[in-house]
Amino acid sequence: YKNAPPSGREFWLSTAAFGPRDYIVYQGERLTYARAHDQVRAVTAWLWEQGVRPGDRVAIAMRNYPEWMLIYWACLCIGVAAVGTNAWWTPEELDYALADSAPKVIFADAERLARLAECTGDAAKVTTVAVRAQGSGTVPWEDVIAHPGAMPAVTVDPDSDACIFYTSGTTGHPKGAQLTHRGCISNLMNLLYAGASSGMATERGGGAAIPAEPPIPATLVTTPLFHVTANNCAAYAATAQGGKMVLMYRWDAGEALKLIEAERCNGLSGVPVMARELINHPDFDKYDTSSLLNMSGGGAQVPPDQVGAIDRKIPSARPSTGYGMTETCGIITSVGGDFFVDRPNSAGPAMPNFEVKCVDDDGNTVPQGEVGELWVKGSSVIKGYLNRPDANEASFTDGWLHTGDVARIDEDGFIYIVDRKKDMVLRGGENVYCTEVEAGIYRHPAVAECCVFGVPDERLGEEVGVAVVLKPGESLDSEGLRTHCLAVMAKHKVPRFVWFRDEALPRNANGKFLRRELRDELSRQAEEA
Ligand code: ATP
Ligand code: MG
Repeated sequence: YKNAPPSGREFWLSTAAFGPRDYIVYQGERLTYARAHDQVRAVTAWLWEQGVRPGDRVAIAMRNYPEWMLIYWACLCIGVAAVGTNAWWTPEELDYALADSAPKVIFADAERLARLAECTGDAAKVTTVAVRAQGSGTVPWEDVIAHPGAMPAVTVDPDSDACIFYTSGTTGHPKGAQLTHRGCISNLMNLLYAGASSGMATERGGGAAIPAEPPIPATLVTTPLFHVTANNCAAYAATAQGGKMVLMYRWDAGEALKLIEAERCNGLSGVPVMARELINHPDFDKYDTSSLLNMSGGGAQVPPDQVGAIDRKIPSARPSTGYGMTETCGIITSVGGDFFVDRPNSAGPAMPNFEVKCVDDDGNTVPQGEVGELWVKGSSVIKGYLNRPDANEASFTDGWLHTGDVARIDEDGFIYIVDRKKDMVLRGGENVYCTEVEAGIYRHPAVAECCVFGVPDERLGEEVGVAVVLKPGESLDSEGLRTHCLAVMAKHKVPRFVWFRDEALPRNANGKFLRRELRDELSRQAEEA
């Protein structure tokens, strides 16, 4: 990957090759590659006229509209770093990220414009383009895309920032990760490699013929474009192959089923809970999902029972997963098809550009097969965190990124993500891994979703607690759940506290459960009880 071309070029090449094809479908709107190409050109020319130059930054503060992608590619094509801001952020959080990233221009939709108006920092003074909105003092998007200028010719340094994406903030304040062009392209190459080797392969049982022609991606994009799952994985792979992206404004399993049928989607990328909701949806059988070839879920642990369930419920599709981080521009590992069905608790082997190792608290490699913190090194690792020397110091050692995840690597090189280091429950000197307990609980047929966490305990330090949501019409009490747990896991892992909830578990913008939020709320209840 040494001479990786600047990211942004793949969009440009695709548009030349695939002009009349649909590029983005969004709520009845269809944008072809040719039209997208023309609008990206206009945005680059307009940005240039504003004095925006390579090395500058431009922020995108929007939900999943087609314009999001156009602005993104326009920035990359002229060496400007696109700053993906989280659409869920409050004015205060938005203010923080904009002060951190100092964009020259902000593109915002109506809701984000309203929040920007409440910002007190410098963000208020930045040129703002109103997308699908109007706002005093803003430039209408329609004016921007009417610009007649040519795309400025610039040479982009492969090691410069392609985008700044903020981590999910699952473990604290989000950090601005600097994803380079080389990193984004390395990740794209990994995706194409993974797709060819397993993800999109539909044959079962191994040894059957691999399709001669890889299918053209028609991807249902279920997560926000300001995270790597949707952008650097789903969007990059679709764009580079002349595929179609079907954008969802928000995740909804029923809506997803409709779109899969109507647009003949062959891939779905999202967090694992989405695939679960899809196959458990009461109307699942009413829709034609036979176009699906690949059901991928990453960004969080896939409950092992779900892997086989997908495989059985959607005969055309194979399950796959990737383990990755914002800090790696996307995937570190990938696994699909029979490899995944046979090892449903593995995230797969490392991608070709990665070196991986598990280390102990002193940074020494643990014996093969043993559990330790996963450190990774490779061309798609970020340059660092913007303005965060403290985090850079804590997260990197000699080019190795500390993932903060606890894992083990088997003799075939398959990686098993055990838990986040910070999520492990320390119960009387024993490490209890949340995801392992969850996997056991999911084996109970009445359970729709669950989330395990540590509850402070005077005697043991921490006790195991779990929040459970049952499937509609099912009934189960704490004793019933504990009896089930005792049958499938060691006694010390069985949750002492069980909370049944009627409403879905709280999630972040990407759909991941907010374990800490849940833990804090319910631990307080446990203390009061
Ligand atoms: P923050 O770093 O701000 O706390 P975050 O880590 O949730 O937030 P992301 O970069 O979106 O932000 O997520 C990466 C993390 O998600 C990984 O470090 C890992 O803990 C988890 N993860 C991703 N993919 C998988 C997977 N396939 N299996 C298990 N865990 C996964
Ligand atoms: Mg993280």
